[in-house]
Amino acid sequence: MRTIIIGYGMAGSRLAGELARRGHDVTVFGAEPHAAYNRILLSGLLAGTAAESTIMLPEPPDTVDIRLGVEVTSIDRAARTVNGVPYDALILATGAEPITPPIEGISGVPVFRTLDDCRRIVKDAEGVQSAVVVGGGLLGVEAARGLAERGLAVSIVHGAPHLMERQLDGPGGEVLAATLARLGITVHFGQTAARTPWGLLLSDGLAVPADLVVMACGVKPSTTLAKRAGLAVGRGVLVDDTLRTSDPAIFAIGDCAEHRGVTAGLLGPAWAQADVIAGLLSGLPASYQGSRPVTRLKAGQIDLAAMGVAEGDEVLTFTDPARGTYARIVIERDRLAGAILIGDNPSAGQVIQLYDRGAPVPSDRRSLLLGRASGAVTAESPVLMPDSAVVCRCNGVTKGEIVRCGARDVAGIAAATRATTGCGSCVDAVAGLARSVT
Ligand SMILES: Cc1cc2nc3c(=O)[nH]c(=O)nc-3n(C[C@H](O)[C@H](O)[C@H](O)COP(=O)(O)OP(=O)(O)OC[C@H]3O[C@@H](n4cnc5c(N)ncnc54)[C@H](O)[C@@H]3O)c2cc1C
Repeated sequence: MRTIIIGYGMAGSRLAGELARRGHDVTVFGAEPHAAYNRILLSGLLAGTAAESTIMLPEPPDTVDIRLGVEVTSIDRAARTVNGVPYDALILATGAEPITPPIEGISGVPVFRTLDDCRRIVKDAEGVQSAVVVGGGLLGVEAARGLAERGLAVSIVHGAPHLMERQLDGPGGEVLAATLARLGITVHFGQTAARTPWGLLLSDGLAVPADLVVMACGVKPSTTLAKRAGLAVGRGVLVDDTLRTSDPAIFAIGDCAEHRGVTAGLLGPAWAQADVIAGLLSGLPASYQGSRPVTRLKAGQIDLAAMGVAEGDEVLTFTDPARGTYARIVIERDRLAGAILIGDNPSAGQVIQLYDRGAPVPSDRRSLLLGRASGAVTAESPVLMPDSAVVCRCNGVTKGEIVRCGARDVAGIAAATRATTGCGSCVDAVAGLARSVT
């Protein structure tokens, strides 16, 4: 089967490798000029804690025809060709693009999405004293923390009433802002009116001086090509459970796709969808039923995880502002339906596992906040995890798969199962499992 993938990012590169290993004839078009890299780890590059060489993704087999630096602008659906190359199946993996709000003077300000963006920000940050990040969502907070780790005085300007409003409630946002303040990052709530030669002017008249301005105002699915090709598009490219678009020969995966009304914007769903397509195109009865993503902040000295819904039958909260700790646990029909965990929450591992598995919560609810239940399943006690517990969420790898893979150190386990190769937040749990089975 001749397969074309448009987009050589995290989903496209994963799929190219999977299909090539199963003997497919694969051509990939990628707009970026680089080999595929782990976009999630750009935060580490910005902070100076990771090197470029450590964020590159594994290359697919040589049989894949990869055309880098080629932005596809049209699809000939009638002839089933892209840039003259014929296909039986075409996969859109065009990802997402940054949202640029209409702010006076903002054109040319760097955004935070690609390796080239990151290189430019790192270069612009050399020799300057201060920076302001426009946007206080996940990426804005990671960008601010990264620049602060480079020694700059950093502020965030955020237009919503509290930070990370897509993942956090008001009290959680306040605890995060207080944690950032302790790390030297100031947060201003208000709309940006204009970029000036000395920084930013907010619409309430406040001046925020800065040598460097960085934009991190969220992303939207990249759908221009799909629209131009006449495919059905909502917020993202609309797909069914087989990830087919409105043209049965064309599929969409990753950040560009909208499945059951959800545009996930996270790696776990993107890689799960790539694996579904690899199965489907190889004749397996695979389908995608949605994911239960957990958002984690990867910024030094800030521990944050958020998942699921904000309201339910029961809501448990714990706040310790002085220590930067906040927990909100939402329970629906005795199951964990959502959670926000900031700071030192000893139950974090247990909560994420319960959310993943949809298992009943303990009758002593205090253990969910304080981690005191006997037999609690925690990332810190991997031996107690059931075999079915998902340890690496980006790759969907369970404890059972790790224990059975035969490898006895993190590198070996990564090579055998791919655990730890996404956002990397499971490294400690995998190392703990490796120790427990030797
Ligand atoms: C700094 C940062 C931190 C993140 N942290 C996390 C995290 O902690 N956890 C998490 O789950 N997710 C995180 N994400 C999101 C995660 O990176 C994305 O969900 C993931 O990259 C989606 O993969 P994708 O292949 O769909 O899109 P992308 O990785 O964006 O790849 C899309 C590729 O398609 C190319 N393309 C687009 N249009 C065309 C065209 N017409 N022709 C050819 N090529 C085209 C683009 O240039 C791009 O290279 C983060 C993102 C960023 C930027």
